[in-house]
Amino acid sequence: MTTETTNPLLDFSGLPRFDLIRPEHVTPAIEQLIAEARDAVRQAEAPADTVTWDNFVVPLEEATERLGRAWGVVNHLNHVMDTPELRATYNENQPKVTEFWTELGQNEALFGKYKQLRASPDFANLTPARKRIVENALRDFRLGGAELPEKQKQRFAEIQEEQAKLSTRFSENVLDATNDYKLLVTDEADLSGLPDDVKAAARAAAERDGKQGWQFSLHFPSYFPILQFADKRELREQIYRANATKASEMGTVFSELEKWDNTGNIAQLLRLRDEEAKLLDFQSFAHVSLEPKMAETPEHVIEFLEDLARRARPYAEKDLAELRAFAKDELGIDDMQAWDVTYASEKLREKRYAFSAQEVKEYFPEPKVVAGLFGLISKLFDVTISPDDAPVWHPDVRFYRIEKNGQLIGQFYLDLYARPGKGQGAWMDDARGRRLTTGGIVQTPIAYLTCNFTPPAEVDGKLQPSLFTHDEVTTLFHEFGHGLHHMLTEVDELSVSGISGVEWDAVELPSQFMENFCWEWDVLQGMTAHVKTGEPLPRELYDKMLAAKNFQSGMQTLRQVEFSLIDMHLHYDFDPNSQKTVQELVDEVRNKFAVLIPPSFNRFQHSFGHIFAGGYAAGYYSYKWAEVLSADAYAAFEEAVEAGGGQLLDETGKRFHREILAVGGSRPALESFKAFRGREPKIDALLRHNGMQA
Ligand SMILES: [Zn+2]
Repeated sequence: MTTETTNPLLDFSGLPRFDLIRPEHVTPAIEQLIAEARDAVRQAEAPADTVTWDNFVVPLEEATERLGRAWGVVNHLNHVMDTPELRATYNENQPKVTEFWTELGQNEALFGKYKQLRASPDFANLTPARKRIVENALRDFRLGGAELPEKQKQRFAEIQEEQAKLSTRFSENVLDATNDYKLLVTDEADLSGLPDDVKAAARAAAERDGKQGWQFSLHFPSYFPILQFADKRELREQIYRANATKASEMGTVFSELEKWDNTGNIAQLLRLRDEEAKLLDFQSFAHVSLEPKMAETPEHVIEFLEDLARRARPYAEKDLAELRAFAKDELGIDDMQAWDVTYASEKLREKRYAFSAQEVKEYFPEPKVVAGLFGLISKLFDVTISPDDAPVWHPDVRFYRIEKNGQLIGQFYLDLYARPGKGQGAWMDDARGRRLTTGGIVQTPIAYLTCNFTPPAEVDGKLQPSLFTHDEVTTLFHEFGHGLHHMLTEVDELSVSGISGVEWDAVELPSQFMENFCWEWDVLQGMTAHVKTGEPLPRELYDKMLAAKNFQSGMQTLRQVEFSLIDMHLHYDFDPNSQKTVQELVDEVRNKFAVLIPPSFNRFQHSFGHIFAGGYAAGYYSYKWAEVLSADAYAAFEEAVEAGGGQLLDETGKRFHREILAVGGSRPALESFKAFRGREPKIDALLRHNGMQA
């Protein structure tokens, strides 16, 4: 085909041609690849007497992988090099790609073929990874309603559509209520305590609306500094109330927020999810949500959360008592209220841990940090990382290769700096997954590692390397953890190699695991050098950082547990068709578990987008769940060091590689964890890392 040679998006022979790809290549390439994938689907659909891995799964995977990879490149460019032309072609093609994948997920003929393969004598001879791929496919079809009788299938589709609409309305209400709220302050004396940059932003906001004074909104960077810094208590109370009642029926007291009340949307969403679960023959929506996850049952998750709450409680009580005493003695606040908590905490933190993020930053110049990270990875997993060549999308982007025993095992792009047209945040994405091709050649994995750090800048006429905050260093390690999961895999099957097919509540294990090293004295000594003196991080500063890390960890843990329990109960044993209201359930959980009961007007659930507009319904617990896994896995390394390090530490690194990173999604996460740790996960290490006794 001629287009194959002229359209760089259709060149799959090597690395993506970032030097040649232009927006005008997108539509023809994506249309051709969708057409090819549809052809492959049609052939795969055709009835066959015997369904085998080779005659069914392989061709389907080949065709869809090409589409996935090409679209991955477009998607990546759209996130890191946004231009009007690229965005236009991205938006034009995205619905077509989504439509293709949605159709594939609902294709009954394919579902039938997977069932046929599952029932065939060939199935028993498949490798465990292949068996898992077939089982996962069957599960996803079932959860997508593919097995329902025609009439119920229709209802199932309606429910999905209705849920999508309600979720959209939910977030729109939150957004509209957030945007609509304006608090104008006309007397500068009322802003005492606020940092200058916050005031300047508020002043500019007022000016934009043609007003005198300082204007605040419910957007986080605007309202949060008031809670944190404003000395005037009434001002804190005012903005706290507005935020805590936003998008609820309580909003009416303060402005006209009632038109954005989410009460009905929440109730209806819960009813539909319950109906969906019953249609699929599950006891509750929580059971549906947990089906593809590592956690086995809602009861198990609730038990885990309640246990964590019990253990964190004494620490949370201590945190609160200290804060109350501090507020009373030093701030003259005798009856600390919800709107005083952030303010008093900030003052207490400043008093106890007097160090600035700026001071810390000077010890973390980019070259030293990156070399430290690479050195650590090389040592832990017995690999080498070296610069490599590839076409890139921006001159700042670097490309590296990872080798083990002289053999290439993976490559990655490192795009560290913020710039216009680049999406916010940090992430790892796969550019290519590992698999053994039909030709018997291993396709090695490739990752995109993207951050938004400050670029190097000229200081006193000299180019100074980028300086990372400690948070940024932690972020870099976190994303590298995902990257290692993707690149150090040894699985030959695309759908379960690397991070593919890993349970959603276990996927943060390697990333959070890597974060721990950023708090390790020895590691920090090897990756810090003061930008002016070259000195490593001093012990005194390190101790302060460590103490600040666990500031109020008891209260914070309980808060996360409270949110997780509310989410779990709403989707497990709350009957959305009964007289009981969501608020009643929220109050019940709070009365039982919170140390600091929010005011009765608090309607935080009305903007709890994670569970009502995100993918976290009956899944919010995953944050803490994955932390338990990563902390416990890391503890194996701490134990090896304690027992003398050396050989033992090498073995632990090898075992982590072999049992967790290498196997990816090819077996259940719990099995991998047990193979690494020799037992089920325990909560102790997480508590210890957070400064709480087990
Ligand atoms: Zn992550």
